[in-house]
Amino acid sequence: MENQRVEPVIQFALLDDLLNLARANSLWPMTFGLACCAIEMMAAGAARFDLDRFGAGVFRPSPRQSDVMIVAGTISKKMAPAIQMLWDQMPHPKWCIAMGNCAISGGPFEYDGQYAIVPGADLIVPVDIYVPGCPPRPEALTQGILALEDKITQGEDRNLLRRFRRMGGTS
Ligand code: SF4
Repeated sequence: MENQRVEPVIQFALLDDLLNLARANSLWPMTFGLACCAIEMMAAGAARFDLDRFGAGVFRPSPRQSDVMIVAGTISKKMAPAIQMLWDQMPHPKWCIAMGNCAISGGPFEYDGQYAIVPGADLIVPVDIYVPGCPPRPEALTQGILALEDKITQGEDRNLLRRFRRMGGTS
């Protein structure tokens, strides 16, 4: 029988990759809802859909302990400054999910000619993931959270740096 040689395998990981992996699998959404979509968000965190399977079930009661803002519901112009303040109070790195048509584009109220509605969360905070629906089901929010986890794991900043280097940058 031929002697089998075992090749030593050494794998290196960048600290950034490990940090991003840890961040992606331990998201702490803020306990915060605006309208009907928030009911679906609550259902997503409950036992039947169980966001804990993906490490995102620990909804925090304070923006200072949260790294994900899920904008779930209609954004009134009166509420917009409060949302901005909550976002500013969250520590970096942080991410935002716009859940439902109201948070994405003003939803049915925008087409209704409502003057008191902000037509999209991205006008007040930077949105990473959009989850469409009126309302989106809890499974859709789960899919949005998985998409966010992918985005974090891929390390968007490093990808930008790689792209810059490929284009001939020297950084
Ligand atoms: S998208 Fe539909 S379900 Fe969600 S807050 Fe707006 S009206 Fe309510």
